[in-house]
Amino acid sequence: MSRTALRVRDLQASIGGLAILKGVDLEVPFGEVHAIMGPNGSGKSTLCHVLAGKPGYEVSGAVAVDGVSIVDLDVHERARAGLFQALQYPVSIPGLDLAVLLEEAAVSLGVGPEEARERIATQARRLGMERFLGRSVNGDLSGGEKKRSEVFQLAVLEPRVMVLDEIDSGLDIDSVREVAGAVEEMRSDEVAVLMITHYSRILNYIRPDRVHIMMDGAIVDSGGPEIADELEDGGYSAVRSRLGIAAPKAPSKTATVSDFFTDTPFDL
Ligand code: ADP
Ligand code: MG
Repeated sequence: MSRTALRVRDLQASIGGLAILKGVDLEVPFGEVHAIMGPNGSGKSTLCHVLAGKPGYEVSGAVAVDGVSIVDLDVHERARAGLFQALQYPVSIPGLDLAVLLEEAAVSLGVGPEEARERIATQARRLGMERFLGRSVNGDLSGGEKKRSEVFQLAVLEPRVMVLDEIDSGLDIDSVREVAGAVEEMRSDEVAVLMITHYSRILNYIRPDRVHIMMDGAIVDSGGPEIADELEDGGYSAVRSRLGIAAPKAPSKTATVSDFFTDTPFDL
């Protein structure tokens, strides 16, 4: 029996009284890569934020990493428990080098400084990140380089549950292949990957063990990679009609900032 790395039960989250997650159930065993796909606004990024412990949501339900509940832990404690999102830096931080920041992050997770420096050197060599180590975090990085930097950070920090939110968004096809390859290389019996993606393109390079479809704040269908193929062919409307889910009403609200970004800035 494989151990369950991440178990989510009836996870609900709202913000200012607005329900966004409406009862998410999910189980990702160690060694597996699961993809969550869903239309814009279905709650995918919110799920990532709530799993990682971002404050500001009213949350109920159960989340456990390797059988241990993390719902009462803050962002840093969850990271120490082994669950985190790729670190995201909304702005570049002039004067703070990636290597320095990453060493501090690793040490704060309980890794010895020498071991941290060794991991940084090894992974930088492996992922072609050496020339970025002495540069400011996110300073002048292209979209593809930022994504590669996120994967690099994860490879150094060695989480047990990796949450990747649209790691493929905005990338050209070569970068998608490269980032996907790096994620595939991190597959191991000690790691579970939860990968959010809007498009099935990246799934040509990462074959997930399971694909979950999220709509309106809940997972409405789960299956093998063939679900992604169905989406590729027929879009979300094909999935909706197979499941008998009505098409969403045209949005009546005025646009909010989150309609224009695939992700909201998140300071870890
Ligand atoms: P996805 O990542 O699937 O596109 P999100 O989780 O970003 O979806 O957003 C889900 C819904 O919750 C959207 O309708 C979005 O506008 C709303 N939402 C997300 N964050 C906030 C927020 N901070 N305040 C108000 N509404 C939000
Ligand atoms: Mg999103």
